[in-house]
Amino acid sequence: MNLPLTPSSAAGALAGKTVLITAAAQGIGRASALACLAAGAEVIATDLAAPGLDSLREEAGAAARLRTAPLDVRDDAAIQALARQLPRLQGLFNCAGFVHHGSVLDCDESAWDFSMDLNVKSMWRMLRAFLPGMLAEAERTGGASVLNMASMASSVKGFPNRCVYGVSKAAVIGLTKSVAADFVKQGLRCNALCPGTVDTPSLRGRIAAAADPAQAERDFIARQPMGRLATVDDIAPLVVFLLSDASRFITGQAVSVDGGVTI
Ligand code: NAD
Repeated sequence: MNLPLTPSSAAGALAGKTVLITAAAQGIGRASALACLAAGAEVIATDLAAPGLDSLREEAGAAARLRTAPLDVRDDAAIQALARQLPRLQGLFNCAGFVHHGSVLDCDESAWDFSMDLNVKSMWRMLRAFLPGMLAEAERTGGASVLNMASMASSVKGFPNRCVYGVSKAAVIGLTKSVAADFVKQGLRCNALCPGTVDTPSLRGRIAAAADPAQAERDFIARQPMGRLATVDDIAPLVVFLLSDASRFITGQAVSVDGGVTI
């Protein structure tokens, strides 16, 4: 499913909305926080890494409608505490996730449990904490939107060495469809995002960790039919669109933004 990006990029697409983003200190989450601010939202940017949130605040500028809060999405008590402090949200972007490298034979139980916990169970925690308030907001304002970070890798299209990553991201798509189906009549939408390979700090880490980093980078680019990696700015406009009322008739979808990988 491919969607036009331009309308939602317009300033004001998220005016009046409060949006919470996880893993917002770097990569796609950070770019999304900045794009949501530019689109007029009040943004609550959360991450495990407090220094990254400090630099995000500096980049956004003092006058921005930005609040930051350290949050480990594996810590249910911390999530519950944040949900008690915060006003009701109209938008939630569950972005946190981790890429485990390896086949099923390389994935031991602790690696499996870590990825499933960070990539999927964290979203269950966030939804249990924030959904009641979002449903109240949906009733009050006519709509609220959840966006869950999936991936095209292994969930939509098979790739080598992405076993538990692909399993976890496929589960994210299942969770997304379940929430969409359960709350569609209450004005709550829920979609998943499936990017191709995006140039972020963690991708640079995966390239650097390869036996031959230059070849690893060429291989990542080669699997992108458009002949380049995505930048975070290829992804953030779609985040704004899916959180905004411009996407009000879209729910339960796994939306690809992958440079043609899944053609
Ligand atoms: P990244 O991996 O570069 O950064 C991840 C951020 O998550 C960091 O700021 C880190 O501090 C934070 N984080 C890690 N553990 C956390 C925890 N327990 N609680 C809260 N925050 C935590 O970011 P990225 O590459 O932009 O990836 C973001 C999401 O996008 C992930 O879910 C990833 O699977 C997904 N994704 C990435 C790509 C890609 O190619 N980069 C492609 C498709 C999907």
